[in-house]
Amino acid sequence: MLFSHYNAILVAVSFLIAILASWAALNMAGRVAISRGRTARLWLIGGGVSMGIGIWSMHFIGMLAMDAAMQMRYDLLLTLLSLAAAIASSLFALKMVSVGRLGLRRLLPGSLIMGSGIVVMHYTGMAAITVDEPIGWNYGWVACSVVIALLASFAALMLTFRLRHETAQVALMRFGAAVLMGIAIAGMHYTGMMAAHLPTHMAAHHSGIQGSWLAALVSIVTLFILAITLLLSILDARLQARTALLATSLEKANQELARLALQDPLTQLPNRVLFEDRLAQALGKAQRTDSLFAVMFIDLDGFKAVNDAFGHEMGDRLLVAVTERLLQPLSGQYTLARIGGDEFVLLAETAAPDDAARLASALVRAIDTPFIIDRYELIVTLSIGIALYPADGENERELMFNADAAMYHTKFSGRNGYHFFQPSMNTFAQRQLQLTNDLWNAAERGELRLHYQPKVETRSGAIVGFEALLRWEHPREGLLMPDLFLPQAEKTGVIIPVGNWVINEACRQLAAWRARGQLGWSIAVNLSALQFEQPQLLDTVLAALAQHQIPPEKLILEVTETTAMRHPEKSINVLNSLTALGVKASIDDFGTGYSSLLYLKRLPASELKIDRAFIKELTGDSEDAIIVSAIVGLARTLDLKVVAEGVENIEQLEFLTTLGCDVLQGYFLGRPATPASIEVDGPL
Ligand code: C2E
Ligand code: MG
Ligand code: MG
Repeated sequence: MLFSHYNAILVAVSFLIAILASWAALNMAGRVAISRGRTARLWLIGGGVSMGIGIWSMHFIGMLAMDAAMQMRYDLLLTLLSLAAAIASSLFALKMVSVGRLGLRRLLPGSLIMGSGIVVMHYTGMAAITVDEPIGWNYGWVACSVVIALLASFAALMLTFRLRHETAQVALMRFGAAVLMGIAIAGMHYTGMMAAHLPTHMAAHHSGIQGSWLAALVSIVTLFILAITLLLSILDARLQARTALLATSLEKANQELARLALQDPLTQLPNRVLFEDRLAQALGKAQRTDSLFAVMFIDLDGFKAVNDAFGHEMGDRLLVAVTERLLQPLSGQYTLARIGGDEFVLLAETAAPDDAARLASALVRAIDTPFIIDRYELIVTLSIGIALYPADGENERELMFNADAAMYHTKFSGRNGYHFFQPSMNTFAQRQLQLTNDLWNAAERGELRLHYQPKVETRSGAIVGFEALLRWEHPREGLLMPDLFLPQAEKTGVIIPVGNWVINEACRQLAAWRARGQLGWSIAVNLSALQFEQPQLLDTVLAALAQHQIPPEKLILEVTETTAMRHPEKSINVLNSLTALGVKASIDDFGTGYSSLLYLKRLPASELKIDRAFIKELTGDSEDAIIVSAIVGLARTLDLKVVAEGVENIEQLEFLTTLGCDVLQGYFLGRPATPASIEVDGPL
């Protein structure tokens, strides 16, 4: 058998088909590997069939490539049989490589079966050639072709298995492997052909169609089938890659969501959900190992004022800075979580209660120094409540509840510190709740009282007016001071009816005094933030003035600096409409609320009340003296009266007089008193 008997073009086509068939096979294996169920079966069958047709037609064209001089006839049945063998071995091969693991124990018998299939296909195909004289065989070449078929199958199976998963490098390697496999398959065929001695004088018994036509037809059909298969598999791979990309971003988004669900996005600290989980774990561990741990409720004092005065953005930055400082003293096993606006909770393993005390005190100290943000000096402090396991609670709920109660205790006993839980604190929390409920009916039941504290003119020493201060004559608790019930009243809104009552009652009292000749006295009424923001405030004030025939300028409405600076523009509007009635406005607790000079200038107030805190430690060269003197200077410039409250002794009185305060108020000059005990000795 000489190669000169071959048609070079058909040989080239046969090689091309072998390579394409191999490439299709490699891609198909990739599809099968990543598909499931019906889709995987479809890819397997479609891939196996087209690959089988590819291999078979390579052989067929290879035979047709023999010189036209040796045109042959083919037995149709045997030809179809050889096609079936090609498809069967291809199907088998694809099935083989679509498993999870392909060890030698599967690979060796697998290559044997696939190789045999190819050998069967080839020699059945050869047997289909009908010639007058029998074909002579060179058994050496036959053996050689069988070995090549087996080796090629082994290599093909291994390569296909290895390259079945889609990646960027694999695509290139697949192409290389396809060329190699194609050459091996074609090599097997041509070796097999070498084994056959076809009679040279073979007559041209043709089945009716010209050999070259047949070759062209088979080539075109096969190439078409292979091209379609390849195209489909490449398109599918692309689609799959896009889906995979989407799946990855979806997974990322899911992870982010899970993180967000467990983490506070601002401070990156765990949130309540994660904290509760950690607390449950800590509880389990402590029960198993008989160990201790502490739960600390941490609340920022003064945060609201910063938020109100500078806005949420500044508040957020302060929270981040606070978090950084809180983390500093922490070591060992702990979870610090943020569970509300300015509420944190800490879970820390402790060897003894003393450890918890040391830690709490370190936390308080860490926050004690002012924060400098954007040139502003912001002052906040911590109120901490500590509950210890197992002493202060057996389960999560009890521990959290009791730590919270202890924190409230700290708040009410001067803030900026910590307290361990005591059973009495729970009654305190319950009492708070009860009080707030009772307050709703307090006005109707006639339990509210106003006490009046005199305001004295520095120059003359004469009383110029009174500040009305709210008291609650509680049927069980006795006389209650405003700090016991006002914070809750403000939160629940009951402050509105209570506040309205105060305005009316203060006006009524002033009218009574006026009726007794005290026409010079004024009355100062405190407004809460919520009241101040009520649109009905103006009407309430107007109604009270009208009902009691009070000249508007005798009513002074006190708004704290913090309230006024919460929404400065709005405050300016509200105060403008109030002062338009003739009513006066006073900025209370001045010096604690981060005023902006810009707004202060525009606020239509008539007086500044210096906060008690500055008066308390007033001595000649104290820092407070400098502040008070600066406030007096500021008030002068803005044409405001200065009132100093909390004057408790003669030294303070003298000093404030020297500094130039206009009006003084404090225990030294008169405590808040019932109207009955206030002497009215003016002209009748
Ligand atoms: P404030 O408006 O700054 O009132 C002055 C507070 O200082 C009063 O406390 C008064 O009793 C106290 N005080 C006066 N002189 C001295 C002194 O020489 N030494 C000390 N240590 N304290 C002095 P009070 O009556 O307990 O009221 C506390 C706060 O409750 C008030 O502070 C005010 O903000 C608020 N408040 C009182 N009554 C009302 C009200 O009717 N409505 C609203 N919204 N708030 C009120
Ligand atoms: Mg006041
Ligand atoms: Mg005050």
